[in-house]
Amino acid sequence: MTMQQAGAPSGPQCRFCGDALRHTFVDLGMSPLCQTHITEEQLNHMEPFYPLHAYVCSRCFLVQLDEYVSPGEIFSEYAYFSSYSDSWVEHARRYTEAMIERFKIGSKSKVMEIASDDGYLLQHFVAKGVPVLGIEPAANVAAVAVEKGIPTTARFFGQESARGLVAEHGHADLLLGNNVLAHTPALNDFVAGMKIALKPHGVLTMEFPHLLRLMEENQFDTIYHEHFSYFSFITVEQVFAKHGITLFDVEELPSHGGSLRIYGRHTEDEGKAVADRVTELKQREIDTGVSKIETYALFEERVKEAKRKILAFLIDVKRAGKVVVGYGAPGKGNTLLNYCGIRQDFIDYTVDRSPHKQGRYTPGTHIPIVHPDRIRQTRPDYLFILPWNLREEIMEAAAYIREWGGRFVVPIPEVKVYS
Ligand SMILES: [Zn+2]
Repeated sequence: MTMQQAGAPSGPQCRFCGDALRHTFVDLGMSPLCQTHITEEQLNHMEPFYPLHAYVCSRCFLVQLDEYVSPGEIFSEYAYFSSYSDSWVEHARRYTEAMIERFKIGSKSKVMEIASDDGYLLQHFVAKGVPVLGIEPAANVAAVAVEKGIPTTARFFGQESARGLVAEHGHADLLLGNNVLAHTPALNDFVAGMKIALKPHGVLTMEFPHLLRLMEENQFDTIYHEHFSYFSFITVEQVFAKHGITLFDVEELPSHGGSLRIYGRHTEDEGKAVADRVTELKQREIDTGVSKIETYALFEERVKEAKRKILAFLIDVKRAGKVVVGYGAPGKGNTLLNYCGIRQDFIDYTVDRSPHKQGRYTPGTHIPIVHPDRIRQTRPDYLFILPWNLREEIMEAAAYIREWGGRFVVPIPEVKVYS
């Protein structure tokens, strides 16, 4: 801790514009880190809990968490392997084909991906003969990618590492990052790094959950410590503009409950005109009230009501003697379970396809995570889908629960039962 200078502002400050954060977006109480699935022997130990208190900046409207935990603590050994989601791997394949065609990416290009995970995306470029480089902060995950033949360097991305990457590997024709911008506490350093790594006529794309959808669809459980920032287009455009990058196109995607894919270029590279989609989305955000602080004040009460509805449902079915089990152990599930106080009193166990999670327990709530085969063996009445963004994929994969009258429950935007 450093001493505050007399007169210096105290309390949290906006990680983009530096303004004091005075407005709460939603306070979800204390929560453990969502990817720290604990082992059997850790069940009897203490677990660190941190505040899950999201603020909104009244100057730039960036919704954000204070940096309660350092990224090194969170991401140096991360349990999320994208390859365990079929629909996400398919999403990556379609992206690859679209980029190759639109920006003429080929064997003389260089594609760099920030937070490249286990190479689930870059593998599609490799298959087409495009030179790639993955930049992945979690060393254990980077090692998996390298084993699969995807060149990957284990490091965090920022201005300093961008200079090093350019010196070693040259500039990127296509620089991409999916679900990393939101995970970056040093936002300005990160975006300034992209300016450094991008070729003069290169293109960058980033995907991240859209704040507008989070608010409209009550996706409070997508707030967790690893997600430092929550962006509207209006805010993200300001962030990139400050670092000399113009967003010239944007797509709205269904992934993660509703994401944006932004397309950026150097502001000096005026050959790429700004698409109508950019102006249209900005107008729609303004019409929805994204640039008015009052809009954000309405969110917290909706979250409390969602919690009451989820608990009312679980209390009803448990009183009726039904068995409820979970599906998935995603980050968002842990926010929901901890905020609502759902433990084995309501959910017997949850299943996950990732062997890295099986045999462990959900952080804070200690619900056992087991292999999906357990569902057939125990024939539960309800399957509570935690990664609701993958509900269709999951309902298809577990359609067999209907053999014994099992039903699906999706908690967000509000509890809904599917027979
Ligand atoms: Zn701000």
